[in-house]
Formats: sequence, structure tokens, C-alpha cells
Amino acid sequence: MKRILVIHTGGTISMQEDKETGEVNTSSRHPLEEISTVLKGRVEIEDDILFYLPSPHIRPDHMLKLGRYVHEKMAERNYDGVVITHGTDTLEETAYFLDLFLQTRKPVVVTGAMRSSNEIGSDGLYNLLSAVRVASCDEAQDKGVLVVMNDEIHTAKNVTKTSTSNVATFQSPQYGPIGITTKTDVFFHHKMTRHESYPIQRIGKRVSLIKAYAGMDGDLIDAVRESSVDGLIIEALGQGNLPPETMEALKKTIQEGIPVVLVSRCYQGTVQDTYGYPGGGRQLRDMGIIFANGVTGPKARIKLMVALEMTTNRTELEHMFS
Ligand code: ASP
Repeated sequence: MKRILVIHTGGTISMQEDKETGEVNTSSRHPLEEISTVLKGRVEIEDDILFYLPSPHIRPDHMLKLGRYVHEKMAERNYDGVVITHGTDTLEETAYFLDLFLQTRKPVVVTGAMRSSNEIGSDGLYNLLSAVRVASCDEAQDKGVLVVMNDEIHTAKNVTKTSTSNVATFQSPQYGPIGITTKTDVFFHHKMTRHESYPIQRIGKRVSLIKAYAGMDGDLIDAVRESSVDGLIIEALGQGNLPPETMEALKKTIQEGIPVVLVSRCYQGTVQDTYGYPGGGRQLRDMGIIFANGVTGPKARIKLMVALEMTTNRTELEHMFS
């Protein structure tokens, strides 16, 4: 029988709705206690509560603590897989951090819920069951950290929350899920071609994230630089362009040795140095801005935070993002 460790960190999946006020909040009783009964005789579950946090309260230091905890527990007992329950708001950032940090071939699956445990149509127990089934599946090994929600299996790298309330919120735009789950089976149909892992000891660098917009000037970039950040992510326009009024502030930022990483605010496609006009990708690349593909702004931020714990050398950073 497979032995799976389930680590709870909080979020709607472990909350309850007050039937009178409609307010959703943490409850004293863990609503997912039923899981062991449902899977009795099929999978051995060990349940652990690490945090009881709504996911907007999760910080990178919680992510590192969680990653270390997974390593410790795996070393203590030979689990066949790990499932982590998490609030959905920042689930993709934690999942991606774990994907970069963990060094294991065993399945690690993150799941959550859009409806709390006592709400009509609650998806928590169902998602948890699916996640446990994926974590106990041999084929789920060597696939990096996976996110299982609503009968789909996504990679931590590509998945993102796309709807504020729909249970089908987690999608991997451009790439799609790498597998599906049914009531009885787990099917994989894709595999990631590349997986990176960085064994960092701490996570303490300050990295800000700015989204570009029409008519943007350098004020926000100046403000961020003056707040002594260690790095800056910009969600640029289209293929990787910015309004020309941001150039001066960006130049100063780079001259001060602060790495600037560019992703697109479009949710599909790649950033590249196509355009030669002022503020165009070519000028940005020549200025020393690092182009990052395949990750969203929040995930590029997690990656830069991780990368800066290993190096501040621009060429090495560029290599890590290429
Ligand atoms: N706001 C909640 C959280 O992220 C949403 C959820 O868990 O679905 O904690």
C-alpha cells in the first residue's frame, strides 16, 4: 500500500462558511479529516498541519519552511508521495517555488479548493482525493511539482489561477494540463522537457513586480529603485516593449546593479527583442534587461528571488532565465 504525506497549509480548502453571514473563515475542526476514512485500505495517509494561513498571508519564507519540511519528512519516513493543500490565491507561487527548490523524484502535488468544506458544491475533498491518487501513481514520478484541481493535472511552472471563483480556475495557458484524473484513473499525456532545481538555504532578497501600461512613465520604477530592492520584474507590453518615458528610470536601475527581468503582460507567447523603436525590445535587451519566457510575472519574481540567493552576476542570472 502506498504511503502519502498530506501537509495542510490553510486556504479555503480548510475553511468553513458561516451559514448566517456567508463569511468564509478558518475553523477549529479540520474539515478534511474524512480523507483517511474515504481512502481506508487503499492508501495510507499521514496528515500534518504546518500552517493555518489564508494564502494571501503566505510569504516566501513560509515557502522555504514548507520546502524544508517536505525534505525533512521525506528523509524521516519513506513516503511514496506528498500532497500539499494550499489557498488558491498564491498557490501557483508556492507550487513553483517548491518546483525550483525540492530535490526529489517522488510525486509532490499541490491542491486547493474554490468552495469551503460546508458550502454547496464544495470541491475540497474531491480535489484532495484526486491529488492523493495522483501522488500515489507511479507515473507521477519525475514530473516536478504538480497542481491537481478539478480533474486536471498541471505543472507548477505553467499553471495559473484564471478565475476568481470558478472551480475550473486553474489553467495552463498555451500549454494545457499534462494529464487528467477520473473517478478511477490517472492519465498523463505530456511531459515537461526541462526541470531546474536550486538548493538554496535562505530566501530574503527583495524583488518587486510592476505591470506596464499605456502612458507609463518612470515614477514607479524610480520609487521601487529608491526603496532599495535587490531585483525588479516588469510585465512588459506585447512581445516585450515599454513606453519610452520609462527608459531613463530603467537605465538608472541597471546602472545601480539591480537586475531587471522582463516578462510579458500577455498570458501567451514569448518576449523577444523584435522592435527597434525607443522602448522597444531591442533597446531593452541592449540596456541589459533580462528576458524571461514561460513564466508569469509572479513566478519570474519567485525565480529571481531564488536565483539571487545563488548569484548576482548578470550573465549567470541571464543564463538561469534563458
Ligand atoms: N482566498 C483564499 C486563499 O487563497 C482562496 C482559496 O483558498 O481558494 O486562501
